Amino acid sequence: MTTRVIHSPTESDLKDAAEIIKVGGLVVFPTETVYGLGANALDPDAARRIYEAKGRPSDNPLIIHLPSVDEVKKYACPPDIYFELAKRFLPGPLTVVMPKKDVIPDTVSAGLPTVAVRVPSHPTASRLCRLAAVPIAAPSANLSGRPSVTTLKAAIEDMDGRADMIIDGGESDIGLESTIISLAGEPTLLRPGGITLEQLRSVIPDIKIGGAVKEKYDGRAIAPGMKYRHYAPDMPVVLLDGSDEAFFACVAERCAALAAENKACGVLCYDEDLPHITPAVREMLSLGPKSDESAAAHRLFTLLRSFSGVDVVYGRLPKSEGLGLAVFNRLVKAAGFDIVKL
Ligand code: AMP
Ligand code: MG
Repeated sequence: MTTRVIHSPTESDLKDAAEIIKVGGLVVFPTETVYGLGANALDPDAARRIYEAKGRPSDNPLIIHLPSVDEVKKYACPPDIYFELAKRFLPGPLTVVMPKKDVIPDTVSAGLPTVAVRVPSHPTASRLCRLAAVPIAAPSANLSGRPSVTTLKAAIEDMDGRADMIIDGGESDIGLESTIISLAGEPTLLRPGGITLEQLRSVIPDIKIGGAVKEKYDGRAIAPGMKYRHYAPDMPVVLLDGSDEAFFACVAERCAALAAENKACGVLCYDEDLPHITPAVREMLSLGPKSDESAAAHRLFTLLRSFSGVDVVYGRLPKSEGLGLAVFNRLVKAAGFDIVKL
């Protein structure tokens, strides 16, 4: 398949993109979180193409994207609290899981009685949803298992030849996927993201925290079922949990041990760490200043994709508050929960 790449999309380009969606094709489009790989959510064959293009397991449901909160009731059964959340956070980086209506095919919901709904704020995404006039099912536009796509370069790397069109939107603003909550039972945070837990608590004070968020590393063993990799670069990532001094010493020691085997190591750290890391490290990439969680969110996936000539990447365990919780969640998964307590 030849993939058309569109820069600075015009209204006429977006109409073409909407037409591709309507006839069952695939369009990579920018959103405020990450790039999405979109298809008509009402067409099971189109939705199936998303799974094929990504190499995504068919039991992992898709998020549907709508141009406005007014359309949600056509596809899902929102409880009253949904509209309270919508007033505060939508359009924006919040996905809500709710009981689904029958029009949403099982291919999209992966057989679940629920559907995940998002109303994006990015003008291109929003306009595309409006023009397509059908809900757009769109997971992140990466190959399954790889870091999500936050730049045109990454979109082309993963989706050239797999999607009909890629729309350039520059660098994604937030850089991490949406926050997902479920309102299908007790309100529960399923995935941390652009809207923080603290923000959600201002509307739902007693929101629960789902297993996949909470089963975070706390110095003890991680449940074996959690040992799969996601968001992963081509080499292993190991997270080091300790003081600055312990981190620098451990990196120096491990890097020397790897060099003895003719192997090289990379480091993912913060600006403040850079002067203290052994020059023996081959690739040293910074998430930005330690206190700037949005810089870390913005850079994380691009940095994970850019390590190339190293055998192992050592990273620091981020703080897990605010937007940091989302960075923490993605990094721990990229490391396949390989965390060393120093
Ligand atoms: P992505 O593929 O990166 O866009 O991520 C989509 C996420 O939404 C996955 O982690 C799914 O498991 C989650 N998701 C989508 N639909 C549902 C649903 N009905 N119930 C629970 N999680 C969902
Ligand atoms: Mg994804």
